[in-house]
Amino acid sequence: MGVGNLGELGMMAGTATVEAAAAAGESPRGLDAAAAGLERINLLGLVMHALETQLLRWCERPFRARQLARWMHRSGAADFGAMTDLARSLRTVLSERAEIRAPQVLRRHHSADGTRKWLLDVGAGNAVEAVFIPEVDRGTLCVSTQAGCAVNCRFCATGKQGFGRNLAAHEIVAQLWLANRELGTAAGRGAGAVSNVVFMGMGEPLLNYDATLRALRIMLDDHGYGLSRRRVTVSTSGVVPMIDRLREDCPVALAVSLHAPNDALRDELVPLNRKYPLAELLAACRRYLERAPRDFITFEYVMIDGVNDGDAHARELLALVREVPCKFNLIPFNPFPGSGLRRSPARRVQAFATRLIDAGHVTTVRRTRGDDIEAACGQLAGEVQDRTRLHERNARSDRRTIGIAEVR
Ligand code: SAH
Ligand code: SF4
Repeated sequence: MGVGNLGELGMMAGTATVEAAAAAGESPRGLDAAAAGLERINLLGLVMHALETQLLRWCERPFRARQLARWMHRSGAADFGAMTDLARSLRTVLSERAEIRAPQVLRRHHSADGTRKWLLDVGAGNAVEAVFIPEVDRGTLCVSTQAGCAVNCRFCATGKQGFGRNLAAHEIVAQLWLANRELGTAAGRGAGAVSNVVFMGMGEPLLNYDATLRALRIMLDDHGYGLSRRRVTVSTSGVVPMIDRLREDCPVALAVSLHAPNDALRDELVPLNRKYPLAELLAACRRYLERAPRDFITFEYVMIDGVNDGDAHARELLALVREVPCKFNLIPFNPFPGSGLRRSPARRVQAFATRLIDAGHVTTVRRTRGDDIEAACGQLAGEVQDRTRLHERNARSDRRTIGIAEVR
């Protein structure tokens, strides 16, 4: 395992933060300690009004929050001493009470196709991944929201690892902060290499709703990263009540991981479907569109050989989504050891895509990027201290046979 390099990034090593303690479900003692001034507040996770409130608590004028946010998010600064337009007294308070700190980078990977991946240490044996995918007209950062994932989708390497913990807002935002810093520096362009963010890394964002919401607000804020709602996409396996909340709180672009055209198959591939079946999920998608920044939902569909990729599946899928304006993103299954599944052959993916396109749906087939560094979708595995004993449960049930024979 590579050694993280805080020195190179000029970041402050420090103690656990308030948010991290809360997110980790630690005892309130940690929070008391923070309140007593023993722990630093990681400013990366504070939305504007929280930053203002915090400054007020330190007897500073709230409008300073904007300057501070710009230093932090726009310039990628970590060192309060360098924020020369802030009063010296404020800089002193900040360096005593606050920090701007990303998780330690355990490993950096560069793919031959330009994709970059960071493995980040989020403590207690958990590590998560962030991936940057450069394209001609944009730079997309894929962020993680949880160490592991409890949804346990049949085809997903992250799910297979079980669930470690939710990330705090500052740990989600830190992925963007860090990527901008490193990419900007590497290209000699200053911060700002990331133009789009997709919540498609490790974890189910809508099962870590509060931290996800705060991270979204910071990413959208003009004094934060200033990203447009259309350029930030939350991907969900279908947590219906939280889709409704996101619609109210912060409607960004929405991708829904569909993967199956009927409940029987989806129950097996995405176990959350047993709780929120397709009819409820599609109704939530329709409601979401009333507030969404784009006039379609993106349906993601992993193409698994002989499981969900037949012509009959395509026909059933078209009937299913009849009432939801949508576009499709077909993702050739990315294999991982022990999955027991195979990627659909390219001609099958093409035939499936053609059916959707002929029915009038914009359909893209995701190119597999960063394969050589295991940075493709569903290959993000990080390291997870599974608290759900998933491995044991999986070992008990013979998951290699579930529901798959019946659809061949
Ligand atoms: N939990 C969220 C977001 C993270 S997963 C969700 O499920 O939507 C991001 C995308 O990668 C999802 O569409 C997911 O279904 C897909 N994915 C997971 N494992 C995959 C694999 N092995 N091959 C291809 N895509 C995969
Ligand atoms: Fe979790 Fe998404 Fe993987 Fe399913 S596909 S296990 S929801 S990360």
